[in-house]
Amino acid sequence: MDLGKIEKTGGVMMQGFYWDVEPKGDWWNVIASKIESWKKIGVDRIWLPPASKGASGAFSMGYDPMDYFDFGDYDQMGTTETRFGSKSELQTLISSAHNAGIQVIADIILNHNSGGQIQFNPYRSKNTYTLFQPKSGRFFRTYKDFHPNDIHSRDAEALFFEEQDMCHDQPNVQKWFWKSDSSVAKYYKNTMKFDGWRFDYVKGFDPSVIKSWMTEVGGFGVLEAWDGNADYLKTWVDKTGARAFDFAAFYNMEQAFDGNNLKLLQDKNALFKLSPQNAVTFVTNHDTEKDTNQGNRIGSAENKLLAYAYILTHPGYPCIFYLDYEQQLAKWKLERLILINQTLAKGDLSILFADTEYYIAQRLGSPGLVVAINNSTVTKSQQVYTNYKNATLYDYSENTAKSIQTDAKGLATIETPAKSYTVWSLKKF
Ligand code: ZN
Ligand code: ZN
Repeated sequence: MDLGKIEKTGGVMMQGFYWDVEPKGDWWNVIASKIESWKKIGVDRIWLPPASKGASGAFSMGYDPMDYFDFGDYDQMGTTETRFGSKSELQTLISSAHNAGIQVIADIILNHNSGGQIQFNPYRSKNTYTLFQPKSGRFFRTYKDFHPNDIHSRDAEALFFEEQDMCHDQPNVQKWFWKSDSSVAKYYKNTMKFDGWRFDYVKGFDPSVIKSWMTEVGGFGVLEAWDGNADYLKTWVDKTGARAFDFAAFYNMEQAFDGNNLKLLQDKNALFKLSPQNAVTFVTNHDTEKDTNQGNRIGSAENKLLAYAYILTHPGYPCIFYLDYEQQLAKWKLERLILINQTLAKGDLSILFADTEYYIAQRLGSPGLVVAINNSTVTKSQQVYTNYKNATLYDYSENTAKSIQTDAKGLATIETPAKSYTVWSLKKF
């Protein structure tokens, strides 16, 4: 069925990496080669892994920041290029994305550092690896820039890396992170041309840090506040002006699909239900994907696809995980769902039915949709009252070739195959 006549609005973010991407030194080129195909399916932002030099050099996934201004152009930590490539390869990738109308989101680690040299630290009365003299010549750090120091012993939350937990109250740290023209924030924005930020591990410091960053450079911002409580996520959003990954919706989905209880999808505990415009919904990421605790990941490929059917038909800004699209799930199914997201998945959410194995909801926009998710091993059929009166509805998921008729009250029988989903909307556009 043709959705081509409906104006497409919105888009999805692609998480452009997974843990320990290969081949080393070539990742920016791999992503650059995907841009045209991603643009075609509706990707409007790409989230890149942390792009500057980490302590583990050519092996680093970037979450161990050492030199915030070395994008693969200084020989240190045993390598000139980063695991992802050279600075010029990164710049080529960013300009290719911009030419395709796609924003590029930088992953920013403000909580901790790694890879300092040893020095005597009077606040700990011992030697610590807190002396940073990066080859870029920018953002030199000493023990004073970490906790404990002359200001206090720690910030709000627990220390992540005891010896290299950054103190964001230190003038040197503020100056280099956001408060001057030579700051990391301004360099990423003005020189590297990043369009936005994914803030790593924000629970390790105060929301005012992000607020200051966003005030200085603006752009799209999304927080990794790893917490299943939607109210807590909303507090972070309200205090920072950035959006947040919807970990509350993520844990709901994990329990609903893996725990076989779709009733949980009625739960109000999701950021997209409290603040849809500030929720970035996701099914998995580089962390959850490798988590050995089954409660921290949506387990099977089948369940992941049901979860994508959920986030791509519900409110929130969806993020697609690289491996899911490129390798692990049926590409055409994700592409179809992204198209549905851009055309039909508009308006308020209304839940029409939920039991442990079958869930049906409607988006009330025009034309809107009815989505049904079946987590059982048999076909499910259920009568529900939709907002479509005397209408022919067609299954745009293409998981069936069915059409159905609603009556004058909007009553329809929604049938969905085992372990699958259907997405119904008006027959003609
Ligand atoms: Zn501090
Ligand atoms: Zn699980």
